[in-house]
Amino acid sequence: MTSSRRDFLKKAALLSAGAILLPNNLLATKSSKKQSRRTNSKKMSLTFRPYDLRLNHTFTIASYSRTTTPVVLVEIAYDGLVGYGEASLPQYLGETQTSVCDFLKKVDLSQFSSPFLLEDILTYVDAIAPKNTAAKASIDIALHDLVGKITGQPIYRLLGLNPDKTPATSFTIGIDTQDIVRQKTLEAKPYSILKVKVGRDTDKMLIETIRSITDKPLYVDANQGWKDRQEALDKIFWLKEQGVVLVEQPMAKTDLESHAWLTERSPLPIIADESVQRLTDIQPLVGAFSGINIKLMKCTGLREAWKMIQVARANKLDIMLGCMTETSCAISAAAQLSPAIDWADLDGNLLIGNDCFDGVKVVDGKIKLSDRSGIGATKR
Ligand code: MG
Repeated sequence: MTSSRRDFLKKAALLSAGAILLPNNLLATKSSKKQSRRTNSKKMSLTFRPYDLRLNHTFTIASYSRTTTPVVLVEIAYDGLVGYGEASLPQYLGETQTSVCDFLKKVDLSQFSSPFLLEDILTYVDAIAPKNTAAKASIDIALHDLVGKITGQPIYRLLGLNPDKTPATSFTIGIDTQDIVRQKTLEAKPYSILKVKVGRDTDKMLIETIRSITDKPLYVDANQGWKDRQEALDKIFWLKEQGVVLVEQPMAKTDLESHAWLTERSPLPIIADESVQRLTDIQPLVGAFSGINIKLMKCTGLREAWKMIQVARANKLDIMLGCMTETSCAISAAAQLSPAIDWADLDGNLLIGNDCFDGVKVVDGKIKLSDRSGIGATKR
């Protein structure tokens, strides 16, 4: 492609990229019309492959342990550029590499004239089959990456977000023996906040072990592990004295009544994780929780996550942005939204030994967004 044609496409595409935020009448410019005519002749092509992430430590939460996480890596090629996406598949989500590949085989992107038609394409993808949220997220991430690359802009800039306003990210410590917890706490030195998985009968030991090493603020995630709301409340008061700043999903995901009871009495914010997957799950949680944990793999990707942020704000809910065990592909994508949220838990790439992407960094505990276009991740 000649450089003048590339420049033209960039300029015209930047106008189309505004479609993420601007009403159509503001975008009906001569340039964007020309651009859509030019891209009519091009086709998007989708490829994907399974990949297994190796965890640095066996990861244990309230309900299970694991040493690997399966993912599917996705590429969408268009006009000489490639957008990267990823589906991460921890077992509790119910998706597998086989189910994701089967889903992706059904996706026909050749019917769409341009990757800028995000709303049309993702509505089509969502309607192919229910659930499959991680598979859907892999397409969403790759399309956003492509849109960013065509325009030459990072996604946070296209969304109007200030990269100086990224939060610190927490670093997760799973349930483990005292010795391993001590070792993990020491390894977590570069991070300014720790997230501690609790929900078994070792909760006090875990917190006291960490507190014998550091006084960093702690997030606590019970992963539905607490069964009695009065015991949960007593624990939360004790945790507050230990310097814990929030509690995630203390009780069963469907028990909104107990969560509302806790939220009313708790001295700490109570954040929904397993209780919230997608946009339409938010409204019933208002009053039952102080905030929600949004994850790309639960909610089908960046586009719905951005909508969820607006709905949560409108309902005065705090927002955490979380992740699964993921490569720097999906983590860098989520990080694009981080200037818009309250708490980040984007450490999935830091917990694995075979990250095949280079992307967003954590500097002095804080997420550092780069100037790289799209999601900001490149293949290693
Ligand atoms: Mg959680």
